[in-house]
Amino acid sequence: MEYFFKIAKTCSIREIVDYNLFYIVNPVNGCWSVISAEDIDFVSMFVGKTIHFRDLHLSKSHLSLLKTLFHQGILEINNKSYYTEQVIREAERVITIIINTTNGCNIHCKYCYAYSNEKTYVKFSPASIIADITKLVGNNENQKISIVFHGGEPLLCWDNIVEMIIKLNSRFKNISYSIQTNGILITKQIVNFVKSNKIKIGISLDGFNKQANINRFGKDNNNFLKRVLDNIDVLMHNNILIGLLSVITKENYRDLFDSVIFFVDKGVKHFGFNFFLSKGRGADKNTEVLVNELVDIYIKLACYINDYNAHHVLEDYISERTISVLIYSLSHKPLGACFSTPCSAGKNLFAIDVNGDIYPCDEFVGDVSFRFGNIRIGDFSTENIKNDNFTKLSHRNNNSIEKCKLCQINRLCPFKCPSDSYYRTGDLFQPHSMCEFTKLILPKYMYLLQQNIISSRYFIFN
Ligand code: SF4
Ligand code: SF4
Repeated sequence: MEYFFKIAKTCSIREIVDYNLFYIVNPVNGCWSVISAEDIDFVSMFVGKTIHFRDLHLSKSHLSLLKTLFHQGILEINNKSYYTEQVIREAERVITIIINTTNGCNIHCKYCYAYSNEKTYVKFSPASIIADITKLVGNNENQKISIVFHGGEPLLCWDNIVEMIIKLNSRFKNISYSIQTNGILITKQIVNFVKSNKIKIGISLDGFNKQANINRFGKDNNNFLKRVLDNIDVLMHNNILIGLLSVITKENYRDLFDSVIFFVDKGVKHFGFNFFLSKGRGADKNTEVLVNELVDIYIKLACYINDYNAHHVLEDYISERTISVLIYSLSHKPLGACFSTPCSAGKNLFAIDVNGDIYPCDEFVGDVSFRFGNIRIGDFSTENIKNDNFTKLSHRNNNSIEKCKLCQINRLCPFKCPSDSYYRTGDLFQPHSMCEFTKLILPKYMYLLQQNIISSRYFIFN
């Protein structure tokens, strides 16, 4: 049988910064492979050209290289690719609703994007919660619903949260809850309720020491940090599932690795590190985070998570969301709602502000140009949303962001959140603030995966 080889002409070869290595990537399907400098000429021969096996005099190493390129979906043999696009099964639809329970907070984070200038404090009224949620999810009592209690600080109105949960449980059968809190106000009574209702707790904390949390607790207050750390111990002791959410700032990024070790030691398993949103009190801040250093920290973290999980059972795996997202993307696994474009804002995700105003996502709360209406005024229906920005969100895809359209790793880059683009540049169609980071880290993770230094099976979402 005749064999002929080809690499799609859309593929290009790029350098992996600092590694003296290169990667070839196909921007059409996101297939990639890491190659050495000495193999560049050999591999380039096949790009956009068909070459017959009989015309090649292959060494053992070149034969093995062609096999690798074929199995990674880069090389086609007889016009056939090893890579087949996974048909993403439409998972059972989960509707996520973020409820802003209060615009008040007991601390004053410097980068807070919510309610930065509010003078009066109000709480979300639980009185009509069943009718409110029914307007967003419909009448099906079996609809899968995820409710996130947000704020301000939601534990400032704990009684309202309890009232809402009791009412919603009486109406919906497939409903789950999580609370995003700064962790200061946790009491025994809260722990008991959270435990018996299997509520997930997200604790916002920027690290294990005072310096890392300076944007949250200020210079002089040691007490808050101690209280949060003590409360984490209590939650862990009660087997409550918690995740730690940190904002990456110049004050904490060098300690991220030590921070993960510290909290893993306490029993925390899941972490999420975010760049801050240029909105609210964070609008005029510059992160001053050195991207090269952050990339090195993310390499170290990925190796640590990989090695930790390799020695634990699946239930005890640890994770950091950004790393899992990147590894999933490189492994062609389906990504979650915030990492697909268009995202789920306004379709499977809604945010309700304290006064009942509805937005496509929590990130847009307070911005009237994204307001859909009010849940308690008129006949609000998700079938009948009239909002220009929502139309733009719905039509936003990988190719509608001009700079991303030209990017070789567009298919592999999971960071396309429109709110990041909007609040940083005033335009919904700009690359993400993690663009530079993504361009540096993805090729390095390619190397770690291809060399089996890390394995995609050890990276999960919680
Ligand atoms: S706007 Fe951003 S945070 Fe909100 S759903 Fe979309 S991707 Fe997620
Ligand atoms: S955000 Fe940056 S890395 Fe991601 S696709 Fe756009 S240009 Fe490429």
